[in-house]
Formats: sequence, structure tokens, C-alpha cells
Amino acid sequence: MSGSAHNSANSLVTKLSFWGVRGSTPTVDPATWRYGGNTPCLELTAPDGTQFILDCGTGLRVLGSRWTVPASSGRNPKTHIFVTHYHWDHIQGIPFFSPLYAESNEFHFYSFRSKHLGRDSLKQVFETQMAMPYFPVNMSAMAAKKSFMEVSGGDSFTIGENKIIARHLNHPQGCLGFRIETPGGIIAYATDNEPGDPKLDVELHALAANADIFINDAQYTPEQLEVSRKGWGHSSWREGVKVARHAGAKTLVLFHHDPDSTDRMVDGLLRQAREEFDSVFAASEGMVITLGSADGKFEAHLPETRTAMRREAQFRARVCGITEGGHPFEEETVVRDVALQGAMVSLVHAPRLQSELQVTMETPGAEGTKSMKLRGYVVRVEAGEQKGCSSVGVVFTE
Ligand SMILES: [Zn+2]
Ligand SMILES: [Zn+2]
Repeated sequence: MSGSAHNSANSLVTKLSFWGVRGSTPTVDPATWRYGGNTPCLELTAPDGTQFILDCGTGLRVLGSRWTVPASSGRNPKTHIFVTHYHWDHIQGIPFFSPLYAESNEFHFYSFRSKHLGRDSLKQVFETQMAMPYFPVNMSAMAAKKSFMEVSGGDSFTIGENKIIARHLNHPQGCLGFRIETPGGIIAYATDNEPGDPKLDVELHALAANADIFINDAQYTPEQLEVSRKGWGHSSWREGVKVARHAGAKTLVLFHHDPDSTDRMVDGLLRQAREEFDSVFAASEGMVITLGSADGKFEAHLPETRTAMRREAQFRARVCGITEGGHPFEEETVVRDVALQGAMVSLVHAPRLQSELQVTMETPGAEGTKSMKLRGYVVRVEAGEQKGCSSVGVVFTE
């Protein structure tokens, strides 16, 4: 299981981890690093230890790489995977989810019957996605125990101590939203939906009613949604705020960021949403929300570099590397756009492409300023905004 999933059975909290938050297609553009480029995948661990996965976008591969192997001859407990619909961005991680190839794992999949596929829709999606010549091995290579369950809008059922409610959402070829009521708190997951269908708007409100965390599609700006992207099946931060307010949701999470939205654009959407609603987050890869702590509040954790990034736009740093000509250099500079994976650094020296860089940053923390040493390699060097400076993209390796 990922990180703490196995040992969380003894805690009383519900833990929600974001492994993929990007909509439509993954992005690798450095301007999208901070929020992340993997497509939808969330992991929810309930207080009773039940593990849920919501959607199987490319974030699922990353979750899989953290899966722990059970002690000799042991089996991993069953994991429940909810797939909202069959668009690429929600299924693309399946063939790359390594736990599916291990006999010791067991997965229970939930999704709806597509009128285009009929019976066993999700199973067909697995098979088709891995059929020749699209993938080197077929589904029979997946040794894990798998079962598939069909769910429709309006269904509700119980898993462990948790109640699950599914509702149809307004999206081309259909989509399900899920509400998971755990003893630690209520999470409503409503990605890929467009407002404007009166019947389905009611369903969305029902999902979000008094939820602690309401995760809603916020792919477009309110302006795009009204004009150029009408009918594309997505929503905006403003619609999310409207629903959150009317349905009494406590915290809104903006989700399914457009692949063309840079981190700065998402920052802008978040800022606007926060002017209208008290508690809003923009989902980012690596973000973890913990519900049900003793004081009744929830906590949100961002990876350290991102947390620091939000407190301060830039950091002083010392950078060591090798120049184009092969000479070592060391200089003091300012680092901007720090993400979990990398950063943009302005340097007087032009480092050699793909050479190693050592970046020592001063980051503000709870106990004063801390020095953080990161090692990475140079992925791009271009003329900087300041004369005589290079703008250097670095990807961190540790
Ligand atoms: Zn999508
Ligand atoms: Zn979709």
C-alpha cells in the first residue's frame, strides 16, 4: 500500500491523498510542475483501514510505485477502486499500476455500465486498452485478484464502516460522482461535470450536501465555460463555489486542471475562488488532507517545498554546478517557481545541459529558516529575463 495506508487502521483519521489532479491529458511542461501533470487519481484511507482509490489516471502509476509488498506469504487487504468514467485521463494509469501484476493483491473495481460497451464495461476497457498492438502484454498478465461491480446513479452501499453513494453527473458519455461517508468525515468526489442540466445539477448538490471535502471539476474559467467551452463537460471554480455554498460543503477543492493552465493561472483561479468562499484549495500532486483529527478540524499538508513556495514567492539559494565549458562554478541567486519536482533558477553562469546542479535553499519553516539541500540536473537553459543571465530549468533527483 502507499505510504501509511497499511498502518492507518489504528488511527482515527481519514486521509485523502492526491496522486493526479490534471484533466484531459498529462502535462510535463515545467510551467505545470507545481500543481502537477498526472491525470486524476486519489487515494482515501478510512479510519477502519479500508483503502479506496478514486480514478485510474496516470497518478495511479505513482501510487503503485509506493505500494508495499506484504510480509512473506501474506496478502494485501482488498482495495476498492472507483472509476468515474472511461475517458483516457481516468483509465490510462491501469496498465502501469504495478500492484495489478502481483498475485498477493486484491482489487474490487466499481464503475457504471456504458451504453456504448454494455455488460462488464470496465473489464472491457481493461481488455481493449491492453489489446494488441496497443500494449505489449494483455490483461491475463495481471495476476492480482480482481472483481468488477456495476454501479448506477442513486446506488448506495456500505464497505467496512463507510457508506458510498453514487450519482450521475453531466458529462459526455456519462460520469459518476462518488460520496464517501467515513466516520472521519465526508468526501464528495465530482470531477468531470458541467452545470446546466437541471436534473443532474440536483444530483451534484446531493453529493456535495454537508460534505467536509467537496472535490469539483474546475477545468475552465467562468468566462470559458460560458462561451468557448460550453458543452465540453467541465466546470469552473465559480460553479464549485455556488454548489459548495448552497449544499453546505465545508471545503472546496478545485480539481481537473486544464492541461493548458500553468501554475500561475491555477494560482489566479484559486485566488478568485478564495475571495468568494472561505475554505478553498486547488488540488496539487502530493497534497494530503487529513480529516477527523481530535479538534474536529482538518489539516492539509503540502510537500515541504510547495508549502514554502506558498509562503514566499522566491528563495535565496546557493547553486553549484558545471558550466558549458566544463568548469565548476558556485553562485548566489534567487530561485522561483519551486515545485516538488523542480525549479527555475536564474544564473549568471550557463550550466551544461544535463549536468548536475546542487541547490541549497533557505526555506521558511515553523521553527525558523531552514537550509534545504537539493540535487538535480539541468533540463533546459535559455536566455533569462535579466540581461546576462540564463534561466535554468532543474529537475530534482533527491
Ligand atoms: Zn477527465
Ligand atoms: Zn471526461
